[in-house]
Amino acid sequence: MGKYNGFLQWQRLLPAKRAVAERLHDYRELQVDADPAETTRQAGRCMDCGVPFCQQGCPLGNAIPDFNDQVWRGQWKAAYQRLAATNNFPEFTGRLCPAPCEAACVLGIDGAPVTIEELEKEIIERAFAEGWVGAESQRALRASGRKVAVVGSGPAGLACAAQLARVGHAVVVFEAAPAPGGLLRYGIPDFKMEKWVLDRRLELLAAMGIEFRCSVEVGKAPTWDELHRSFDAVFVGIGARRPRELEVPGRELGGVIQAMDYLTEQNLVVSGDLPRAALDVRGQHVVILGGGDTGSDCLGTALRQGAASVHQLELMPAPPQERAAGNPWPQWPQIWRTSSSQEEGGAREFALRTTRLVAGDTAETSGHVAALHAVRLRGPADRPAAHPGELLEVPGEPLILPATTVLLAMGFVGPDAGVTAALRDQLGVALDARGNLVVDARYATNVPGVFAGGDAKRGASLIVWAIAEGREAAREIDAHLRQAAPWLPSRGRDQPFGGR
Ligand SMILES: Cc1cc2nc3c(=O)[nH]c(=O)nc-3n(C[C@H](O)[C@H](O)[C@H](O)COP(=O)(O)OP(=O)(O)OC[C@H]3O[C@@H](n4cnc5c(N)ncnc54)[C@H](O)[C@@H]3O)c2cc1C
Ligand code: SF4
Repeated sequence: MGKYNGFLQWQRLLPAKRAVAERLHDYRELQVDADPAETTRQAGRCMDCGVPFCQQGCPLGNAIPDFNDQVWRGQWKAAYQRLAATNNFPEFTGRLCPAPCEAACVLGIDGAPVTIEELEKEIIERAFAEGWVGAESQRALRASGRKVAVVGSGPAGLACAAQLARVGHAVVVFEAAPAPGGLLRYGIPDFKMEKWVLDRRLELLAAMGIEFRCSVEVGKAPTWDELHRSFDAVFVGIGARRPRELEVPGRELGGVIQAMDYLTEQNLVVSGDLPRAALDVRGQHVVILGGGDTGSDCLGTALRQGAASVHQLELMPAPPQERAAGNPWPQWPQIWRTSSSQEEGGAREFALRTTRLVAGDTAETSGHVAALHAVRLRGPADRPAAHPGELLEVPGEPLILPATTVLLAMGFVGPDAGVTAALRDQLGVALDARGNLVVDARYATNVPGVFAGGDAKRGASLIVWAIAEGREAAREIDAHLRQAAPWLPSRGRDQPFGGR
């Protein structure tokens, strides 16, 4: 159980980040290397409480108290094995997860939770450095003779593919983009996770025998029904990339850009796949609409590109510093947070609704955005507003901000409509009112042999949820294949399937 009174002796402490002035000159990750002695102390803070709420808070059901204790005792290999039993990609979650486990940690009731996410990163990086993470250890000993198509190579598709390959099924991953990884490659900037972390894992997956076919948009060639006929099962992990639109006068002006177009381009520049960014905002007055992860990633990118000013606007009022009465532990706390990009600069504004975008008035600037008009909002007097519909306009003059680039980062409303229309028309897959794929408790769509998970099924969410759903869908796909072919060799004790 860690050190019996460790939480009384040591405060929560995370490794330092590089100085802002330094990190704004590059796209490298922010954190400096952890001090191993401090990592051990942080693991020792775990109280191993009788009911591990942290484990319940983690969508993967990671056995957090177990690996905390193993790190405290210096049993790093055992800690890695424990972590890898429930999480295929701790190097992604250890860098990018918002850590709902920490929000549910018992120490967080009246103090600071264990640094679970950071410990996860240290365990997996130690495992890579020691050579414990090998394709051989995860490759199935016997082939099942069954073929599964995984469509989409984001964390949901990759987790599903890894789990299926581990139990002997032949897996082909189809990816519309030129390279695999989904939002891990094209959305999330390198200052949050450098691409070598993704590529290192992809090499291992390929070495397990998973085949990647990139630049292939399923629905065009091959069609969904062709794919369905050629494989024993299909997993659909196509993500939810349809952005929420801004419906105000001036949306059509030049300089008004969807966040993913902007972030993808800079990711391509950093990886060397594009010589320079056409959407570079150097010297521009940038306004970002949306206060979430995507908006924050735009902010960090705009600061690195040398924007003259950056404002990040959020529709909802600023959250409280502490949990509100209606938001008790161990729920996810709806409180004020400052992302690493927000530490770096820019101004944040809350409770603002954009009413129009205005073009410049010179020959050079007409047709291009020059200013943004917004009204202030207020929520109900007696409690925090629960949704935008509850917000009322505060009478008065509009707020006018200089805006030569407006980045739309207002969230995603569902999977790409063209892709889901093809799924529906070619295969008859049912969609819900938002265009998400409808599945039952087994991740099965209404079409036999077709399964779905990740953002395409649950709406835009988190990496940890995508991994969890990819794993769970893989277990159901495996069960489906075995039901159709009971003579398949048993998985055996040497082929752990995992899953929550
Ligand atoms: C800018 C940004 C930052 C984020 N930051 C974080 C973060 O810090 N932490 C966190 O937990 N979450 C973050 N998220 C959310 C997280 O990235 C997603 O929840 C996660 O990637 C979803 O995984 P997925 O596999 O379901 O879909 P995706 O990662 O979107 O992958 C879907 C893949 O399917 C492919 N595809 C689609 N249609 C087809 C087709 N017809 N044929 C073949 N391939 C197809 C797409 O090209 C894509 O590669 C962020 C999201 C964004 C946009
Ligand atoms: S995956 Fe996320 S929620 Fe789960 S233990 Fe790791 S940081 Fe916590």
